[in-house]
Amino acid sequence: MLRTGLRRIDGEVFYIEKLHKGVYTLTKVNRIYCRRKSQYQLIEIFDSEGYGVSLYLDGTTQISSADEFIYHESFVHPVMLSHPNPREVLIIGGGDGGVLREVLKHSCVERVDMVEIDAEVIESVRKFFGPSFSKVFEDPKARIIIDDGASFLRSSTKKYDVIFADVTDEIGPAATFYKMEIFRAMKERLKEEGIVCLQSLGIVEHVGAQSRLKRALKDLFKNVGVYVVYVPSFTGLWSFTYASDSCNPAAMSEEELRKRISKRGLDLKFYNPEVHDLLFKSAYYIKVLEEVFW
Ligand code: SAM
Repeated sequence: MLRTGLRRIDGEVFYIEKLHKGVYTLTKVNRIYCRRKSQYQLIEIFDSEGYGVSLYLDGTTQISSADEFIYHESFVHPVMLSHPNPREVLIIGGGDGGVLREVLKHSCVERVDMVEIDAEVIESVRKFFGPSFSKVFEDPKARIIIDDGASFLRSSTKKYDVIFADVTDEIGPAATFYKMEIFRAMKERLKEEGIVCLQSLGIVEHVGAQSRLKRALKDLFKNVGVYVVYVPSFTGLWSFTYASDSCNPAAMSEEELRKRISKRGLDLKFYNPEVHDLLFKSAYYIKVLEEVFW
């Protein structure tokens, strides 16, 4: 098996990441900003030639400055716009601040609680990704809580309009996150007309995971669905799974989306009502890949 991580090849530095069985990526690294082992994981931040400043946790790409807006806008806006008036939002994980930034763009939002297990991820992002990333953590509507998302869900009594889970891919401190017990706890923390949404992994690397997650959530919620976006630095299509008894992002009309985007004053680089439609249609790849690889 190929040794992953930083390697010198032909006089240049590359980062080798394992994507899935027998498939690796090779990313040219121009500068190493940070390599530190926190209590929970190995945190690495590099300047990569192709994708700019990039964060890796335990050897897995988390975000890159060049294309993180594609991931974060696609994750957040279909769900936020499907709720008629999301005022209180919970984010589990999301230490890079991207989900928080997009949620705060909705003018109706009054409070966002973000529960991140690893304070060192936030510190490192604030230090090396520049002011556009660090200022979001200072927004007066945001409360940053350093805690395990699972224990927070069990112990909190507060209810939210929207809950996002942006935890790492079933590795490190997130290894036990994608479980029925956690989904039940999320439902407990949701207001009646609320909606939850989880980043639900790459559809090639984690073939089958989205259908398993959908089946589990269907036991608890009326409307469950998956949408998918291509993120270049992830080298593939990434999925998000939502669940609600009342909202349904897949059933939003173009007219209503436009109305809400304008009313909430959203300033976006990637997401719009045409992209919304594309995200849901692209979920077709999941079916195809499951037939080929599963
Ligand atoms: N976009 C991402 C991806 O591709 O996986 C996720 C980004 S975000 C950096 C993931 C965050 O989840 C990390 O900062 C990690 O520390 C946090 N995390 C992992 N397990 C957690 C848990 N149990 N509770 C709270 N945060 C957690």
